[in-house]
This record gives sequence, C-alpha cells and structure tokens, in this order.
Amino acid sequence: MYGQGIAKGMWVTIKHLVDTYLDDLKWWGRRYTDPAVFPERQGPHTRGVFTVQYPEEKLPMPERFRFTPFLVVNDPDAPEHPSHIWCTSCGICAKVCPPQCIWIMRGVHSDTGRPIPEPAEFYIDIDVCMNCGYCAEFCPFDAIKMDHNYELASYDRTAHHIHDLARLSKPVSYWEHIAPTLAANERAAREAEAARKAARKKSAPAKQQDDAK
Ligand code: SF4
Ligand code: SF4
Repeated sequence: MYGQGIAKGMWVTIKHLVDTYLDDLKWWGRRYTDPAVFPERQGPHTRGVFTVQYPEEKLPMPERFRFTPFLVVNDPDAPEHPSHIWCTSCGICAKVCPPQCIWIMRGVHSDTGRPIPEPAEFYIDIDVCMNCGYCAEFCPFDAIKMDHNYELASYDRTAHHIHDLARLSKPVSYWEHIAPTLAANERAAREAEAARKAARKKSAPAKQQDDAK
C-alpha cells in the first residue's frame, strides 16, 4: 500500500522515542554511574536510544587505537631499564616521522660532556602529528608508544600542544594497562632476547678456550 513504508519507519522512530524514556526510568540515577549499564545499552537487546552519550559515556578503545605518542619510562617501584627513560635518543623516530614533528636533543654526561644514550629534550608537536604510529613502529627499544587519550583539546595551541619530555613520559605500567596483549608480547620478546644474550655471553669464554688450543 502506498505510504506503508513511511508509516513503518515513523512507528520505529516513535517506538525508540518512547523506549528511550522507559529506559531512563529503568536506569534512574544509575545511567552514568553504574559500569554495568553501558555494555547493556550497547548490547543487542537494548531499547530506546543506543547512541553514546559522550562525554558522560565513552566507548572502550581497542588496544591498537593510536592517538598521540608518549615515551615509556621505568615504573618507580620496579625499575626495569638501566636508565629511567627507555629512549636512547637514537633519532630513528624523528627520521621516519612523515610530517617531521619530533625534535630531540641528545643528553651529555655532566662531567665529561660526552653524549649519553638518553634525551636531554624531546618535543612532539601534536597539532602536526598525524597519528600514523610510525615512530612507535620503528623504535628499536619499545620506548615510544601510541597513547589512547584523545581528550587533548585546549584554548592554547602554542605551549599546550607542544608536548615536552615531562608531559610525554609515562610509566611502562600505563602501557601495560592500555594495551595488555601488545605489552605482554613485547615483554616476552625482550626477555627472550635477554636470555639469548646471556647464553651467548656464557658460551663466549668456552669458545675462546677452544680457539686457543
Ligand atoms: S626511536 Fe625510540 S629510542 Fe630512538 S629516539 Fe625515538 S623514541 Fe628514542
Ligand atoms: S605518530 Fe606519526 S606523525 Fe605522529 S609523531 Fe609519530 S611518526 Fe610522527
């Protein structure tokens, strides 16, 4: 019948409108405070409005979500790396960064003035960063990772949007929290590499003795 489709469409719209208010009554006072509500409202049996009511509600980020980069540092109570910051100031990330928004200044030894493998300064212009993740992909030391925090808007686009060493540094436990599977794989690879190096070191004196005979 002519117009039947329109009537059906309007019925669905009205049903969702009414269900939205019924849903509000169902979750009265708990809608944005009870963690069980959001998954149910996003599930297949939801009624009423199912759009995300941002910023009160937020979708969980997948592990591989990338926003701006951050630098990995040791956890204060479980230092895992010889220096506090894992970055060795090798400069690979700055070289591969397509829009060239990373600036690094290598640190120097306070007594000798010789270069040391950690940055004295590190800046990323997050307005220029295109969130490609190349820096994290190419870093040979697992020292730079892509953050999930996308709420970085501010009224000051000069100082606030140039992230310095202090702002970029986040403990490895933070990375393990936002990307547990990726972090576990990386940790396993680091431990396997450390074990290989230890075994090679152990076998080196025996080989030298064999060669001397
Ligand atoms: S590639 Fe990694 S180790 Fe090298 S400068 Fe960048 S963050 Fe530091
Ligand atoms: S995510 Fe891409 S654009 Fe942003 S700093 Fe890293 S390499 Fe550069």
